[in-house]
Parts: sequence; structure tokens; C-alpha cells
Amino acid sequence: RPATTAWAYHRDGFVPVAEATVPVTTQGLHYGTGVFEGIRAHVVPGRSELAVFRLRDHLERFARSCRLLRIDLPQDTAELAAVVVELLSRNGVARDTYIRPLAYKYRPLPGTGPGVSLRGNSDALSVIAFTLGDYSPAAGVRCSFSSWTRPPGRSLPVRAKATGTYLNNALAVDEARAAGYDDAILLNERGDVAEASTANVFAVRGDELLTPPLDADILEGVTRDTVRVLSADFGLSYTERPLQPADLLVADEVFLTGTGMGVTPVVGIAGRDVGTGEPGTVTTGLRHRYHDLVRGSDDRYEHWLTRVRVP
Ligand code: PMP
Repeated sequence: RPATTAWAYHRDGFVPVAEATVPVTTQGLHYGTGVFEGIRAHVVPGRSELAVFRLRDHLERFARSCRLLRIDLPQDTAELAAVVVELLSRNGVARDTYIRPLAYKYRPLPGTGPGVSLRGNSDALSVIAFTLGDYSPAAGVRCSFSSWTRPPGRSLPVRAKATGTYLNNALAVDEARAAGYDDAILLNERGDVAEASTANVFAVRGDELLTPPLDADILEGVTRDTVRVLSADFGLSYTERPLQPADLLVADEVFLTGTGMGVTPVVGIAGRDVGTGEPGTVTTGLRHRYHDLVRGSDDRYEHWLTRVRVP
């Protein structure tokens, strides 16, 4: 069960999480003019230590998202990293943790009304954290093809993690769950596969990994990139190319990648079994490697970890 941790970083300092609140005039609430990240820290086995995975990469994506929305934070990425590290050590909880930096258009400047402009509001940063263990089922998930289309980049900046764009994801996952599925796979305006509600999608064909390219209107996932790097260790080829819905239906295996769910097998799509209807060997191999790697099992990838002592 996820639970918020005791402390949050809110606007300009650390406060008990109950005090991290915003006024109803906050522009980000009205128009979705905010950006966020999802970062994970994992308990390192046998140590009083959390390892934050690819912190810099997440914060660089956060900085790009901020720039797009004209959000000017006083902190650079190194200072934001220090905030995340301090939040974890203040919380002092030796449990797997999900960290959520959130930057948003905050307070209308004097003389400014409730307009939709990206200018005329101050910016604010909050960082909260949840204890959140591994929730992705080893047995895999079943997905629908969503009736909601992934909006094209010319309509919304889907490559940035902007809060407003997640209305699309929320509607898609809600529809999927109402129909008895675990998650939704969204297609883009061209009818090609884009991504799941909060994860990128891969198909496995023989020893090939196939995943949609960035111009399929997807988020540039950090876990997607991690799988790209790991594919070489497994002797798998990695190809970004447009995938049609039918490519997923006839794939040997399909899996999802995301910070929240790691590498998760998709065992069914739109009422059909994928492959054998069981998690496949390629997915399971990548899943275990990822699970161990983020917990510090492999020295070659030490540069992806930020280790934080927790009592
Ligand atoms: N797509 C969407 C829409 C997401 O919200 C996420 C989760 N951040 C992902 C893909 C996966 O990205 P990452 O691997 O960086 O978590």
C-alpha cells in the first residue's frame, strides 16, 4: 500500500507533508500548467541505504518540461538532486520509495487575473514521496486498446511530463479498468501504437526488441532507455519503428516499461492472449535484470545510482 512519507519539500523548504498545501488560486489547478517527474529509490539489500535510479536523467527531463512551460525554478538540476536526497534522508524510511517532484504555475502576480497565459504567475516546486513497493504482477497484465487517442505533439507536448496532458492517460486507464482490463494501450493519431497509460510498450519478436519511435507521440521513458542499454547484454537487437496494433497481437511477447512498474509482462491484449498467454523468457530475463540492477547488483551501472544513507 502506498503511503506518503512524513516530510515534503514545499516551495522553499522542508515541511511536514500535511502542511504542503496550495491555495485554490493556484493556476496549475485550473489549467494543468504544471510538470512532474516520477523517480524511484530502492532499498539496497543488506545495507541501510536507498539507491535512487537515474536521478540526473529524470531531473534533466524535468528541467526540459519546465522550460517548455516557462517554469523558472531557482534550483538547477544539481540542487534539485540535493533536495531529493535530503528528502529521503529526512524521511529516513528504509523502504522502496516513489518520489514525485512537481513544479507548477502558482500565484497570479499582482494585477493579474485568472488567465490561461503561461506568464503572469509565480512558479512553485513541491517534492513529495510515497513508500511504494514493487506492484507490478510477475504474472503480467492484460491491456485494452483505448478508444482515447494519444494527442499528437502538435496539440499537446506529450514528450514533456506536463500535468494537463495526463487527462488523456486518466481517461484511458479509467475506460480500461471499467472494461475489466489492467491498463490501456493508446494509439496515436496515425493509428500506430503509442504507449500505455504510464509506461512505454515493447514487442519481442525472436531476438528483436521493437518499440515505437519518439515521434509516435510518446514520453521519452527512462526505463525504455534502460532496456535499450540492457538489450545488448542479452544479445537482443533494439529497434525503434512504428508498430501497428496487429504487431502487438502477433508478437512473441509484449511488455511495458516505466519507473512505477519496472518491466511488466503483457499477457493479453484486447481479449486475446499474447504469445502463450504467459510471461515470456525475454521479458522475464529483462524484468529480473532490471529489478536487481536498480538495487545495486551490477557495478557496470553504478553511475545510474545515487546512494542515500537511511537509518
Ligand atoms: N509514458 C508515460 C505516459 C508515462 O507517464 C511514463 C511514466 N513516467 C512512461 C511512459 C515511462 O517513463 P519512465 O520510464 O521514464 O518512467
